[in-house]
Amino acid sequence: MIGVTVLGATGSIGVSTLDVITRHADRFRAIALTANTDAEQLADQCRRHRPKYAVMADADAAKRLRGLLADMPECPEILSGVAGLEQVAVLPESDFVMAAIVGAAGLRPTLAAARAGKRVLLANKESLVVAGALLMEAVADNGAELLPIDSEHNAIFQCLPPNFADGLEAVGVKRILLTASGGPLWNWPIDRLASVTPEQACAHPTWAMGRKISVDSATMMNKGLEVIEACWLFGTDTDHIEVVVHPQSVIHSLVQYEDGSVLAQLGHPDMRTPIAHAMAWPHRLDSGVTPLDLFSVAHLDFHKPDLLRFPCLGLAFDAARIGGTAPAVLNAANEVAVAAFLDRLIDLPGIAAVVGETLAALPNETVSGQGLEFLLDVDQRARNCAQQLVRARAN
Ligand code: NAD
Ligand code: MG
Repeated sequence: MIGVTVLGATGSIGVSTLDVITRHADRFRAIALTANTDAEQLADQCRRHRPKYAVMADADAAKRLRGLLADMPECPEILSGVAGLEQVAVLPESDFVMAAIVGAAGLRPTLAAARAGKRVLLANKESLVVAGALLMEAVADNGAELLPIDSEHNAIFQCLPPNFADGLEAVGVKRILLTASGGPLWNWPIDRLASVTPEQACAHPTWAMGRKISVDSATMMNKGLEVIEACWLFGTDTDHIEVVVHPQSVIHSLVQYEDGSVLAQLGHPDMRTPIAHAMAWPHRLDSGVTPLDLFSVAHLDFHKPDLLRFPCLGLAFDAARIGGTAPAVLNAANEVAVAAFLDRLIDLPGIAAVVGETLAALPNETVSGQGLEFLLDVDQRARNCAQQLVRARAN
């Protein structure tokens, strides 16, 4: 039996992960489940999956969970806070850790899992954006495995040879073609983007996801974060990554080789495919996803991204090129700005404005030789700056 810790069990990725675990209950067992504040949903998941541990983000939520599970025989041990998340990320009974918390909040437990030598199933792309060097180093130094869950990166991983860590040039790769759906605002008139509501921004045409990543898809910041994620995962740089808008979300990304070959991974836009792939790797597992029928897909379209419509994508490319603390600042400012947009404090174009102004306001610092505390401090300073900019815009 393979033990699995699911960080962010109540989210979109967490629920899909538990679906794959349920389909293969003879192979996988949920050892620990975690959630932010939704004690009701976590209680329900605990009754169905009987984990040994359950973690809520704070003591109040943990108290509510204890109340909800009071009558459960073999009730899980209930923990709370970052210490609880780190504890369940390193359990000896957990072989795999699904990192599916949203945002920089996922960094500490993801890093702890890597340091404990786990197979880390990485959905939480923000961890790599904030602390790519630290996380990659923790994986390499502790014999951990880092398997990408983000559909594009999982696709690229599937299209690369097993020895890609020797360097993409060494294995004959010319460049990575990172596909993007373009999101729900792909062909909205630019002059109407200021009127987009949170509901419209979250109405993704091809993927059902959490609210933060849905807004990131609408601004294409998601693709920008994914460019940075790809640089770390595949040891490359922005000159070797091209973003291709592909509205059908059937091709999940492609790898172009020097001999003219282009390899792609295709499938229905359903996150259970990359989740099952990473859980079974190097083998395969039934994910429950309907087989792809190319006749019903019929057309595959490709477009260049429009950086005027999607300034967040340009900001992310710039941050990736500049390096240092720029990606961490970009991420923190974006988290603050997206939350403000969802709270209707700023409009959609305000997200790129807040991110751009935060990047301009803070000095770029080198990260080499720096540890987690330094990065968390950068993250906090960027959040404070972005909050001020949000308040100024909201007035
Ligand atoms: P979601 O909002 O649906 O779920 C987030 C999970 O994290 C929930 O379980 C929530 O309770 C928990 N959480 C939130 N804030 C927390 C905090 N401060 N402390 C502890 N737990 C907290 O998000 P999602 O769509 O499942 O995305 C999760 C991650 O996976 C994100 O990093 C996202 O970018 C990435 N991802 C998601 C998809 C997708 O299809 N949903 C695809 C690719 C990558
Ligand atoms: Mg993705």
